[in-house]
Parts: sequence; C-alpha cells; structure tokens
Amino acid sequence: MQPDFSIRGKIAVVTGASKGIGYGLAQSIAAAGAIVAVTARDRASLAPLLAEIAQAGGQAAAYELDVRSVTQIRSVFEQITADFGRLDIVVNNAGVGDGMLAEEVTEEYWDEMLDVNLKGVFFCCQAAGRIMLAQGYGKIVNVSSQVSIVGIPEGVAYCASKGGVNQLTKVLALEWSSRGICINAVGPTFIYTPGTAERLDTPEFRRDVLARIPAGRIGTIDDVAGAVIYLASPASDLVTGTLLLVDGGWTAQ
Ligand code: NAP
Repeated sequence: MQPDFSIRGKIAVVTGASKGIGYGLAQSIAAAGAIVAVTARDRASLAPLLAEIAQAGGQAAAYELDVRSVTQIRSVFEQITADFGRLDIVVNNAGVGDGMLAEEVTEEYWDEMLDVNLKGVFFCCQAAGRIMLAQGYGKIVNVSSQVSIVGIPEGVAYCASKGGVNQLTKVLALEWSSRGICINAVGPTFIYTPGTAERLDTPEFRRDVLARIPAGRIGTIDDVAGAVIYLASPASDLVTGTLLLVDGGWTAQ
C-alpha cells in the first residue's frame, strides 16, 4: 500500500484567505482537488481569489467571517456545512502579527492579538470540531509559527498567542483523536506576505532573518502548503497533536 496524499473531493475551509499565506493555501488546496470555502472579514476582498481558483479549474466559495466574533464563527461553519453537506478540512490561518516592544504594549494591542490569533483559532476549532465529531471525521490544521517555541524581540503578544495555539492543539488532540479528528499545527519561518513585506523589505531585518535560517532562504507559501496538504490528507492519519515546523532549521539551533 502506498501512502495516500490526496485531498481530492474533500470540503475544506481556509480562514483569512484574502491575502498572504491564506490566499496561497486556498489556491493550493483547490489545485489539489478539494472544494474550498474561503473566509475574510470583507467578502468582496475574496473576489480575486475566487476568480483565480475558477480560472485554474478549481471550486471555491466565499464567506464573510471576522474570527473575533464567536457568533459569526458558529454561523459560518454551520452555513458551509449546510452548503456542502460536510466539513473535512479546516485551516485556521487568519492572524495578525505586528511587532511591538514589550514596554510599549497596550491593552488594546494585546487584546487584538490574542482575540484573533488565539481566541479566534480556538472557537474555529470548536465550531469545526462539533461538526466533525458528529461526522466522525475531520482534519484541522492551525497556522502557528516558529516563534511559538522560541522568542523574538517585539513579539511578546504574538509569541504568547502562537504558543497558546500549540497548547490548545495538543489538548484538542487528546480529546478528539479517538473520535476521528486529527488536529495539528504548522510552524512557518518568515514568509514574504503583505503581513511581513514591510519588515522583510528592510535590508537589515532581512539580513538578520536570513542569518538565522540554516537553509539560507525565506520561506514560500508553497513550503507551507506542502505541510498543510500533508496534514489534511490520509497520509497523516496517525499524526495528531503535533507542530510541524517549516522553518528551514531556525529552531534546530
Ligand atoms: P497577512 O498577509 O497579514 O494576512 C492575514 C489574513 O488574516 C488576511 O486574509 C486577513 O483578512 C486575515 N485576518 C486578519 N484579522 C482577521 C480577523 N479579525 N478575522 C478574520 N480574518 C482576519 O498575514 P500572513 O503573513 O499571510 O499570515 C497568515 C498566518 O500565518 C497568520 O496566522 C500568521 O501569524 C501566520 N504566520 C505568518 C508568517 C509570515 O512570515 N508571514 C510566519 C509564521 C506564521 P482580512 O484582513 O481581509 O479580513
């Protein structure tokens, strides 16, 4: 028997798909033959992605979702399941990541980071998990970060939020793995996206980042997509509660 890496025909959700990693993950998942429900705060911002997926012969539908609203999360996951009949794969990608020196962090900044990156991810997992437990099947992939396990200056709230994502992923794996759900996290290194472009376009910052990546390059969205599709496919059916680092060796040192 060969391992099965196919996600063809599966129903997948990608949150935060209007740009950056989420946009590329949605394209890759659709190209792999899954039907993708993509979400962002403004449904209209997803129009270019829908057009690109359709142009490439894939299938997608757009939903408006602000992951800070638990009410919205529940109704969107129920709507997607009603529209497609089931829910096989959920990629919790929506996130924010601006840096701030610890002594300057405000309550508002802290709450926004934790609301989107940690609370949002948990309640998306919960909404998906309830549906998947009823089906007896599901794959959840949470987009964490390499800095969920190491620190980075100006990352106090971001690192705390991503460390929390790793921990909730483990607990949910303990509770749900015997009932057909695999839940894992991926931990990318720096990827060039609208969220990181300003920092990575600063030569000094880019030099410093490259010096910390033994593989010698910034990551690409395809690097992340490979890990996500593996964790969404039957090939990873015994993989649960883990963090798959896609960091070029950053954290191996
Ligand atoms: P990005 O370019 O800034 O895109 C962020 C996405 O999240 C957008 O689609 C945005 O959609 C969505 N989003 C933000 N706030 C939201 C909210 N309240 N509700 C719903 N969606 C929201 O970021 P990225 O660099 O692609 O990062 C994507 C994920 O990868 C994040 O979880 C990030 O922490 C993680 N990550 C990124 C890197 C990197 O180097 N880029 C490395 C490790 C991990 P709208 O604003 O259109 O709603």
